[in-house]
Amino acid sequence: MEIIKIFDTTLRDGEQSPGASMNTEEKIQIAAQLERLGVDIIEAGFAAASPGDFDAIDKISQRVTNSTICSLARAMDSDVKAAGEAIAKAKMKRIHTFIATSSIHMEHKLKMTPDEVIKRAVRAVEYARTFVDDVEFSCEDAGRSDIGFIKEISDAVIQAGASTINLPDTVGFRLPFEIGAMVKEMSQYVQGRAIISVHNHNDLGLAVANSLEAIANGARQVECTINGLGERAGNAALEEIVMALKTRSDVFAGFDTSINTKEIYPTSRLIANITGIEPQPNKAIVGKNAFAHESGIHQDGMLKNKSTYEIIRPEDIGLDIQDTLVLGKHSGRAAFKDKLTKLGFIVSDEELNSAFERFKELADKKKEVYDDDIRALVTSEMTNIKKTYELIAMQLMDSTGGVPSAAVTIKHNETEITDAGIGNGTIDAVFKTIDRITGYHGKLIDYKVKSVSEGKDALANVTVKVTFNDNEPAIIGHGLSLDTMLASAKAYIGALNSYLSMEGKLKLRHTDSSETI
Ligand SMILES: [Zn+2]
Repeated sequence: MEIIKIFDTTLRDGEQSPGASMNTEEKIQIAAQLERLGVDIIEAGFAAASPGDFDAIDKISQRVTNSTICSLARAMDSDVKAAGEAIAKAKMKRIHTFIATSSIHMEHKLKMTPDEVIKRAVRAVEYARTFVDDVEFSCEDAGRSDIGFIKEISDAVIQAGASTINLPDTVGFRLPFEIGAMVKEMSQYVQGRAIISVHNHNDLGLAVANSLEAIANGARQVECTINGLGERAGNAALEEIVMALKTRSDVFAGFDTSINTKEIYPTSRLIANITGIEPQPNKAIVGKNAFAHESGIHQDGMLKNKSTYEIIRPEDIGLDIQDTLVLGKHSGRAAFKDKLTKLGFIVSDEELNSAFERFKELADKKKEVYDDDIRALVTSEMTNIKKTYELIAMQLMDSTGGVPSAAVTIKHNETEITDAGIGNGTIDAVFKTIDRITGYHGKLIDYKVKSVSEGKDALANVTVKVTFNDNEPAIIGHGLSLDTMLASAKAYIGALNSYLSMEGKLKLRHTDSSETI
C-alpha cells in the first residue's frame, strides 16, 4: 500500500476563516485531536504572524508526538527563523516556506523578476534546512503559474534541500483535468526527487475533486482542513478526500492514508464547537443529514439491506447512531467516563471531576443528556483558560414597551462586583453592564446561538466574536447553559478571558494578509 500523506491546515488556513482567533488552549485541543485522527502533518500556524501564533505552535510542538508539526513561513529570513524556533521542541518538524510564482503575483505583488523569486526561494529553503531536515516549498498561485517556471524553481529548491513541492491552487480557479495534467507533468518531471503535494481552494466547489484528480496523477500529499474550513469558500475537506479514497478503493487501489476514520466525526464536532462554524446540514460525510434517509422508499430499502442506499456506514466515521440517547441523572461517574472514552476524549482526573460535576448539574435539569451535550460540555471544560472574570449571578428585566435592564455580579480577584445597566435590548444591557464592571469595552462582531441537541430543554451554545482593541483580530468566546441569556453572558466573558490570556500577543506583525497560500 502506498500512503497518501494527509497534511492538515485547519489551524493555519482554517483559522483564517472564522475571522477570529481561537485561544491557545483551544488550538492545543484541536492539535491533540488531529493527532488521534492520524494526520501525518499538522500545520499549526504561521509563526511570524503574531506572538500568539508563535506561542500556540510552540505549545503544540511540546504536546504532539505522533504527527509532524509544521509552521508556515514567507520566503524571508525573519519568517523562517520564527518558524524554526516555534517548532524547535517538536519530535517531528517541518518548515513550509512559499513565494508566489505566477506572473500576475510576481509582477504586481512582489514586484520581482522570476530570477529574483528563485533566489529568494533558494535562500529560504537553505536557511530552513539549518533548522530542520524536512522542508516543504510552495509555489503560491501555482494554479495560474507557467509550468516551465514551476519546473525551474522546483529544480532549484530541491537542489537547496526541499523534499516536498506543493502546488497550491490559491484562488480555486482550476478544473480537475487541469490539476491532473499539471500534477502528472510535475511528478514525471521531479521523478521521486520530491513529493508532489496539492493545496486546493474551493471557490468553484472543486477542491476535493481537484485533490482526488491530483492523487490519481501522482500527488502523494494533499493539504486539507476539517469541515472544509479555510479562506473564502474554504479548502478541500479532509473527511471527504479520505472517505472518497476509502469508499472507492476499487479505483484508488494500492493507496491508503494513515487516518483513523472513526475519529472523523469527533474531530468535526470539536472544530464546529470551537469555531462556532457548523457544517451545512447537507455537507458530505459530517453534515447533520449526511446519514438521514427520510424518503419512505429509501427507509424501506435501508431496513431490508443497508447497502441499498448507504455507501458509507455511519460507524466508519465514528458516528454511532444507536448510541445517541444516553445518560441521565442516575448515571454514575464510571458510565460518564466510559462515555467520554467512547466519544474520543482523553481527560485528566481533574478534568474528569469538573466535567462530571457539570454533567450532574445538567442532568438534574435536563431529562436526557445526548452525546452532543457531552461533547459541548467537555470541550468547553477542556478549553477553559484562566477565569480572570467569572459570572456569579445575573438578573434581567424586560417587558414589551419597557426599558431592558440587567444586574450582573462578576468575581474578579476574589472580589464580587455588582452593577446594573440598561440597553437597547436585553443582550445589549447585559454586555454593557459587563463592560462597566470589567472596564474593557468589547465590540461585538458576531453573535450566534445554537441548540446543542433536541428538545425545548436543550443546552444553548452561544458563540460570540468580540474585538477589544481596534488593531487586533477578534476573539472567539463560548458560553454553554440551559438559559440562552446566561450562555450569552458567559460567552462574552469567555471572550474577554481569552483576550486577557493572550493580551499583547495578538497584534499582527505584518498586515499583508494577501500573502498566503
Ligand atoms: Zn490556502
